[in-house]
Amino acid sequence: MPFSEARADLPAAPVCDLCRGGHLQETRVQTALWEGERLVVVEDVPALVCTGCNERFYDDETAMRLDRLRGSGFPEARAARRLSVPVFRLAPDEGGGG
Ligand SMILES: [Zn+2]
Repeated sequence: MPFSEARADLPAAPVCDLCRGGHLQETRVQTALWEGERLVVVEDVPALVCTGCNERFYDDETAMRLDRLRGSGFPEARAARRLSVPVFRLAPDEGGGG
C-alpha cells in the first residue's frame, strides 16, 4: 500500500500571515546562526516556507529544539559535518579604481 496516499487528507496549505498572498509549504531548511564569533549551520530543520515571501515558520517543537541546541552551545561532538565558507567584506572605500 503506498504511503503517499495517507497525505491526501491533509488540510489545504495555510495562507501566510505575513504577506497574506503566499501559501505555506512544509519543507526542510538550513539555518545559519551566530554564536558570538562562531557561525554554525543547522540542516534538516522542519519548517513551513511561504511560497510568496519566503518567510520561514517553525513549529513550537522545532523552535524548542533549536533553543536547546543553542543552550548546549552547539557542541562540536554533535556536528554532522564541517563547512568551509568564503567571507566577504564590504569596506566603505576600497581606495582602488581610477
Ligand atoms: Zn508570505
